[in-house]
Amino acid sequence: MRHYPIFLELHGRLALVLGDGPIAARKAEPLAAAGATVIRKSTFDPKDLDGCAIAIGADAPEADLHALSAAALARGIPVNVVDRPELCSYITPATIDRDPITIAVSSAGAAPVLARLIRARIEALIPPAYGRLAALAERFKDAIRTRLPDLAQRRRVLETLLTGEAADLVFAGREDEAARVVEATLESAEPSGGMVFLVGGGPGAADLVTLRALRLLGEADVIVHDRLVGDDVLDMARRDAERIYVGKQRANHCLVQEEINALLVRLAREGRKVVRLKGGDPFVFGRGGEEAEALAEAGVRFEVVPGVTAALACAAQAGIPLTHRHAARSVTFLTGHTKEGRLDMDFAPLVALGGTLAVYMGVVSLPQLRHGLLAHGLDPATPAMLIERGGTSRQRELRGSLDRLVDEGPAWSTKGPALVLIGAAVGRGVHFNASP
Ligand code: SAH
Repeated sequence: MRHYPIFLELHGRLALVLGDGPIAARKAEPLAAAGATVIRKSTFDPKDLDGCAIAIGADAPEADLHALSAAALARGIPVNVVDRPELCSYITPATIDRDPITIAVSSAGAAPVLARLIRARIEALIPPAYGRLAALAERFKDAIRTRLPDLAQRRRVLETLLTGEAADLVFAGREDEAARVVEATLESAEPSGGMVFLVGGGPGAADLVTLRALRLLGEADVIVHDRLVGDDVLDMARRDAERIYVGKQRANHCLVQEEINALLVRLAREGRKVVRLKGGDPFVFGRGGEEAEALAEAGVRFEVVPGVTAALACAAQAGIPLTHRHAARSVTFLTGHTKEGRLDMDFAPLVALGGTLAVYMGVVSLPQLRHGLLAHGLDPATPAMLIERGGTSRQRELRGSLDRLVDEGPAWSTKGPALVLIGAAVGRGVHFNASP
């Protein structure tokens, strides 16, 4: 570690800012925000340092900056001269302000731009609501200390409160309810029960996961996931969270789903924070509805976190507008899943709608899909597209008519998850690297 990090108490203290320019003005702002009385000077007089807790120099004559640095160092006053490490006794970090939480990032001057990029990442991870969560904790600090004198127990209860239901209520803007949960927890001195989060993990790319999903992945005790969730997404989960793979086999679907439901109920009843992580969105062909019903029936608390569903991710990356004022006034999500080899679909209204069709699990049933749609009047020349591993760096596309997809699809496929898009809007795709 190159520097020793500290947070300075400046309330009611004097801070000297030497220099007239915009940088000096910018440096004065956080000092004032931290409660300091800021003295601005354009030239240096050693007397200006009297009573000062900190000093900053920028945009001042060279001799004054040197004099400031030497005098402050001699008197043990922390001093920073902007962009002059040799004149500094401290450096200013890139900060994230979630009052009362403050996060400071430093690269020890080696790569300030990188420090700022890291700050941007942390900023995205720690939503402003964390400030409100800290305020809630502060409000109950004394009560918690009195009620739970044992440190280990206090820590356990606090961890549960700060990652559990109370925190989720604060993030949802429901502070009053959160306060009641804290009170109830203190009454019983027991951590609140488990909860299940049905979380959409998006199409597989790590940066298409929502911030809410990311937060829950970082807090989960156990993650129940299936085949569609990629390693990139799972890698973002808490390292010591238990992971349970419940990938489905095509044949014994029903039984497996019941087992998954029972597993979720059992884990929650053990008091654990369960993330049920699904590809795309949990409520779009993800059986999230069945799991939600089972949880409700068992009296287990749960919440649903939406994700970027395959159709949206595939279309966006392929440059295809799913709706278009001149080509598609609707978009329909369909499943091409067959029952006993038959595609059970009402084709007439789909053709009549004249919008975009997004067919999930439709690769195997493509011939039946083409037959049904054309038999009900769809123009055989209607643009169509097969998109594999959409929304990831490995997205592949096969463009053409339904005929082409049926003829070439099977050989083209590399067995990754694939979606079929059909409709006039598919032909209006504008690819970002297309030549004008
Ligand atoms: N809940 C998921 C869908 C689950 S059904 C969602 O909202 O996306 C599984 C089907 O989704 C796959 O057979 C495939 O048709 C589609 N799918 C899922 N991820 C995909 C991806 N990255 N690219 C293309 N299709 C995908």
